[in-house]
Amino acid sequence: MHMSTGAAKNTRSGCMLCPRECGADRESGQRGRCHADGRIRVARAALHFWEEPCISGKEGSGAVFFSGCSLGCVYCQNREISGGRAGIDISIDRLSDIFVELQDQGANNINLVTAGHYVPQVTEALRKAKDAGLNIPVVYNSSGYEKTETLRLLEGLVDIYLPDFKYMDAGLADEYSGAADYPRTAVSAVREMVRQCPSVQFDERGIMQRGVIVRHLLLPGHVREAKKIIRYLYETYGNQIYISIMNQYTPCGDAAGDPLLRRKVTKREYERLLDFAAEIGLEQGFYQEGDTAKESFIPPFDCRGVLPERNREKGVDADTGSRKTEQNVRRPIR
Ligand code: SF4
Repeated sequence: MHMSTGAAKNTRSGCMLCPRECGADRESGQRGRCHADGRIRVARAALHFWEEPCISGKEGSGAVFFSGCSLGCVYCQNREISGGRAGIDISIDRLSDIFVELQDQGANNINLVTAGHYVPQVTEALRKAKDAGLNIPVVYNSSGYEKTETLRLLEGLVDIYLPDFKYMDAGLADEYSGAADYPRTAVSAVREMVRQCPSVQFDERGIMQRGVIVRHLLLPGHVREAKKIIRYLYETYGNQIYISIMNQYTPCGDAAGDPLLRRKVTKREYERLLDFAAEIGLEQGFYQEGDTAKESFIPPFDCRGVLPERNREKGVDADTGSRKTEQNVRRPIR
């Protein structure tokens, strides 16, 4: 299964889509640093209820989890898919059908989770889906490690950007994600996202239709770093964006041996960060309530919704299985 001519453009003479610029010949089957080759690999396409309330709503967000990741953090919570193992290879046409099926299931939006290494194929699938009647907002859910040029390919197709902003310190970005260029890359990426979606808009139900929400996952022992990021975002963008402050860090993967990363974030650490956000005047934001630091909040990457047969076998009802709990609730800061 190959990319179409248009989608292949960025990969024919070596892929340069993301800041890694590893030059993998993905069309010939070579996998890049992101673990992806020329095929689109998806690990789950289902209604998802654990995003910010203005994204999930009661109906759920139509989340499409793409396999592979160009960042590769040592503490990755989604290792099963970020390493490219979980998932099924699908065509651009099937991806387009998935978008329309999620809309038919009542999704409030299409939520593209870590799609940066598939941007050419995703844009083609979105155009096809829009021609076929897709009219709900499209959310681009990202690590924040994105090239501005690649983000420009999404202009006019994405309505809501939902990037992480993980580090302001290059040394920390290098240590935890092997990406010393993360801070300056994320600064440019968020700037481009805000340029494309310069104001936040909601419908009458409070569901976001357009805008940018930047997330920061507080890491244990790194409150000072987190404060730098929240201050930067608030002082730069004010009420142009929303900021989502998360405490759901769960020790896993290679992080288990790290003296700081092997524990959860304490209640005190999270409170210090939230107090700081309030002190500097942040009102447009979200925080997490309850004990969210559990591996059980990671959705099952069981390829649900990826193939049409599976949809028919399992039905198209919402996934409200045992993993959904009222504890993983995000509240508006105000
Ligand atoms: S998207 Fe993947 S293959 Fe392309 S440059 Fe980035 S890591 Fe390499």
